[in-house]
Amino acid sequence: MSGGIKPKITVAPTYLCHMSQTKIPLIIIGAGPIGLACAIEAKKAGIEYLILEKGNLVNSLFNYPANMTFFSTSERLEIGGIPFVSIHPKPTRPEALEYYRRVKLAYDLRVNLYEEVTEVRNLRSGDGPTAFTVITGKAVYRCSKIIVCTGFYDLPYLLDVPGENLPKVTHYYKEPHPYAFQKVIVIGSQNSSVDAALETWRKGAEVTMVIRKPGIGERVKYWVRPDILNRIEEGSIRALYNSSVTAIRDGEVDVQTPDGLITIPNDWVIATTGYQPDLAFLKKMGINLSDDEVFCPYINEQTHETNVRGIYLAGVICGGMNTHRLFIENSRVHATTILSHIKEEYFNNDPSFIH
Ligand code: FAD
Repeated sequence: MSGGIKPKITVAPTYLCHMSQTKIPLIIIGAGPIGLACAIEAKKAGIEYLILEKGNLVNSLFNYPANMTFFSTSERLEIGGIPFVSIHPKPTRPEALEYYRRVKLAYDLRVNLYEEVTEVRNLRSGDGPTAFTVITGKAVYRCSKIIVCTGFYDLPYLLDVPGENLPKVTHYYKEPHPYAFQKVIVIGSQNSSVDAALETWRKGAEVTMVIRKPGIGERVKYWVRPDILNRIEEGSIRALYNSSVTAIRDGEVDVQTPDGLITIPNDWVIATTGYQPDLAFLKKMGINLSDDEVFCPYINEQTHETNVRGIYLAGVICGGMNTHRLFIENSRVHATTILSHIKEEYFNNDPSFIH
């Protein structure tokens, strides 16, 4: 369920030389909250920019569960000094979509939606000026600086079990109604899994949670935690701890439990097992990743510039596989850090800049 994302049209590289290239000083990849924050800072600095977004505005937030409540209070999700007013103690996804749409309008941000960046080519030679070609499914751009804010919500962790590709399996839970009066297995124990289990159970689904760990996740929102624990304790929702799904078939699922392999009758599998950033995209650009299991991209902490001169990283992508370290609240500041560095070069008439 990748929402409004349109099919990708790939530009064959051999045609590149025949295509006109739009020149622009700064390209921002990704119109999530942090990409928008970067665009606002660029606009304030008077630097021409363009955001390229493969889906709709704030695509990741759009793909979150329809009734999702943020763990942050609304003022911590604000960007560009525009107040985010919520009627709830914690804002909901629809309120956040409304808010970021308003931000885009208020600053008249330049965003090309449904335009995926498929390739970045570095044109710099030696110590010369930074210059890149950015290729999308629709056009080719030439720019001096790039900020990559591609988030982490596009690649789900796969179960890697037979039957995972059946239509009854989803890695993106949206809303409870389709699961009413159905036998549902929810895989995982963090916020998304707990929300899916509670919501579908409340709409009449028969819910079994399959959890690899011995309990419900530690990071589950503090006001939701008692709810799920009580539903499990009273037997309304079944939880199989220290267990994992080993095969999915039409009508049933195999689960390896501490007491052996069991087969459960099943209509739908909601596999909310987490998501990972597209690190291959960074590697293709030449960005170095740490050689531990976090694969943290290299950035200069003072400027957020990567080892590839002229390419900066902002938002959750800076944390590599550790997708819980950075979120909107604590990464919106990346925008000012990066733009103050870019601004310095821009206004010092660095010859590398397309003006
Ligand atoms: P994203 O919002 O993921 O934006 C990345 C954008 O880049 C997307 O729109 C994507 O389509 C686009 N993109 C990717 N690849 C390309 C490409 N090749 N070309 C063009 N575009 C591309 N954070 C909080 O601070 N508070 C909360 O309460 C909170 N609650 C959350 C609840 C859930 C269920 C989840 C999953 C996350 C939550 N987060 C929360 C985390 C927060 O949503 C993310 O940290 C945040 O979205 C990161 O913003 P970003 O701009 O870095 O990335």
